[in-house]
Amino acid sequence: MTTITRRKLNDGSYRGETIDLREVLNDILGAARENAWTIETMEGSVPGLYSLTRPCFQPRHAFYLSTGLHGDEPAGPLAVLELLRLNRWPPDADLWLCPCLNPSGFPLNRRENASGMDLNRDYRHLKSPETRAHAGWLQRQPPFDISLCLHEDWESNGFYVYELNPDNRPSFAEKIIQAAAGVCPVDMSPVIEDRPAQNGVIRPHVNPSDRPQWPEAVYLITHKTRQSYTLEAPSDFPLPVRVAALAAAVQAVLSAL
Ligand SMILES: [Zn+2]
Repeated sequence: MTTITRRKLNDGSYRGETIDLREVLNDILGAARENAWTIETMEGSVPGLYSLTRPCFQPRHAFYLSTGLHGDEPAGPLAVLELLRLNRWPPDADLWLCPCLNPSGFPLNRRENASGMDLNRDYRHLKSPETRAHAGWLQRQPPFDISLCLHEDWESNGFYVYELNPDNRPSFAEKIIQAAAGVCPVDMSPVIEDRPAQNGVIRPHVNPSDRPQWPEAVYLITHKTRQSYTLEAPSDFPLPVRVAALAAAVQAVLSAL
């Protein structure tokens, strides 16, 4: 466990470093091109919504990673950039990657999209052009063994993760927390975001039909996968720490596949 402390910059909202999304996306696409990823723009009227895919020769795993759904959470797209540059992916995994799902929110440093919608509540009714384009793209993909969604929490005292694992498959949650703890404090509170938590892991009991609003993870667990993790880096810590924590956590999952 590290001894980095909160900066106490965040006050009512995220007040830390911001990114130039256009620049970061250019770097992401450049790194993807160099390493033979297929880059596509998602159908619809949203500029900046990309998917990156990379099939392998003899796939044993199908791995999905998304981020950038909240425009005030810059560590996710930067972690994707770092992972693409590192280029250490399992040789037997097909890969699907969405590097930024809310391109209009980042220039405003705002959780919601430019029209004020929290996209991570819009995956049941798909009212926004972003979630419609994303869900349309998801529907054309095969199922995933595992999905990871990278987020940040401006209020949190440390890293934590939500696990949706209805079939009780071998969990990746402890590996995620262990990897993040090497770089960043973990939120050890027994209650996080009003839900019971244990050692930085929240395991919500989710019945999608009871939920009027769906985050991306509930859409994924309903339509695409049986194992989903939402990683939350604490955004009151320095940006490079959060990027390193998210990237380390993703790599821990990849190497445990
Ligand atoms: Zn978020």
